[in-house]
Amino acid sequence: MPTAYCETCGGIRPCRILDAREEAVCVRGAVVTVLQKHAHCAYCGEEVTPNEIIDFNVFHAHDAYRKSVGAMVSGEIRGILRQSGMSAVELSRLLGWEENAVDCLLKHRVPTKEQTRRLREMAKRLNRREVNDGQGKNHAIGADSAL
Ligand SMILES: [Zn+2]
Repeated sequence: MPTAYCETCGGIRPCRILDAREEAVCVRGAVVTVLQKHAHCAYCGEEVTPNEIIDFNVFHAHDAYRKSVGAMVSGEIRGILRQSGMSAVELSRLLGWEENAVDCLLKHRVPTKEQTRRLREMAKRLNRREVNDGQGKNHAIGADSAL
């Protein structure tokens, strides 16, 4: 059983995590509907927050926020990396960004409109290429693009 600090009991207690459910959450001033989990102390029933639900809740709130502002979510960026076979650093270089830029976007930084636009363009290019030649020539995307 997972454990968490219970303020009512004044110590670490086993807790019960409920199934995730959709709820309206305020993220950076925007109200978004996200999957969130809740947990309760197994002794007194008070709401507690074990680490594993914090990660889950933050991840889902973050994604929902990105969607609400039209920014690319980290799963899509990971898809670009997978399809192109590039590392986060290589993709950053190709786009002419700081080396850690893509890595930051995967983790905590929300892509700007311009970054999302260029990443979407890149994703489109990759999809086209896969349909057209399907020969894994993805390493050439930098050469023939005006990015
Ligand atoms: Zn308790």
